Amino acid sequence: MFMVELQKRASKKMDLRGLKMNELQNFLEELDQPKYRQEQIWRWLHQKGIKSFDDMKNIPLALRNQMKEKSELITLKVDTIQRSKDGTKKIRFLTQDGKSIESVLIPDGDKTTQCISSQVGCALDCQFCATAKLGFTRHLKVGEIVDQVYRAKEILEQEEPGRRITNLVYMGMGEPLHNFERVSASIELLTHELGANMSYRKITVSTVGLVSGIKKLGELPKRPNLAISLNASDNETRDAVMPINKKWNIQALLQALREYPLENRRRLTFEYVLLAGVNDTDDDAHRLSRLLGKFNCKVNIIPWNPHPGAPYKRPTAENIERFQNKTKSLGLPTYLRTPRGDDIDAACGQLANRGALSSSGSPDVSATVLN
Ligand code: SAH
Repeated sequence: MFMVELQKRASKKMDLRGLKMNELQNFLEELDQPKYRQEQIWRWLHQKGIKSFDDMKNIPLALRNQMKEKSELITLKVDTIQRSKDGTKKIRFLTQDGKSIESVLIPDGDKTTQCISSQVGCALDCQFCATAKLGFTRHLKVGEIVDQVYRAKEILEQEEPGRRITNLVYMGMGEPLHNFERVSASIELLTHELGANMSYRKITVSTVGLVSGIKKLGELPKRPNLAISLNASDNETRDAVMPINKKWNIQALLQALREYPLENRRRLTFEYVLLAGVNDTDDDAHRLSRLLGKFNCKVNIIPWNPHPGAPYKRPTAENIERFQNKTKSLGLPTYLRTPRGDDIDAACGQLANRGALSSSGSPDVSATVLN
């Protein structure tokens, strides 16, 4: 029964690396395995991040073969690694069906933040974002989400021994709450003490403001941090730059956030992409402070990062400073996010497989869209 359900959920074979602990247990019980196998296999999958069934050295060949037959071990192929002069690395992965997705490693002192993708492309169509221009191809599987972290760990071990991934942000390609079940499963796996053992407090999920997803996230017993891409201070502007606003406008979004169960000493993050002449006036600053003034939050101002063909401009340095000072003087805790890795198109909103020619031989979709 259980297998049937899982088979339905996954496309053909079960996503072994995407199983939660209890699901792995059920799987192994159906194969009549002793209980200790569960932890052994789990460690191979999530602690060692192995790439093939045959790397499971202490698992008998017969069991490995049974698992091979019934499940797939999703491993991403590292296609290219681009290195920015500021130390940021952009990794392009190829999925087993030849789709490319990107992940970014951002060093900051002792900390290293990995920005991971949750979908191939994105369906939300935010007008200022390069990923949006790719359109939506598909959700990532759980195994594809977590393997971005395991492969990145491997790259760091080789290139910068001693450096560890300390923080994780779901701010790469895609809208994580549109792929809610798989994203929440991936967080459960990545925080497991016998795996990557990350802390919920060091994980942030960023959303365009899918109210249904925010509600579901709020119902989880353990929650990551939540960031909301607000990006405008009035509905007319937000409608124009983020079509999702026509479904859940600013008031509906903020109401869901007021109802969101925020744990002690945690705060929401609001992202505000600053677009010259669109949302960067003093009036915007006033409206923003009225909207957010009562929230326990911080506001990250992200000056727009350019990408070809987009009808926007980054405000001048003076205007960025003026906007930040204005919002600060109105009592908002605003922080300016300096772009990281923008020389390799790795900064916010620039992930679009640019320049990619996937090694599967077929031209990359994005290259067609963007060139
Ligand atoms: N879909 C989710 C996760 C992506 S996070 C979300 O939108 O929150 C990516 C962040 O980069 C979002 O805050 C988005 O508003 C911002 N962004 C998108 N395009 C950008 C660009 N060209 N310059 C700067 N920030 C951008």
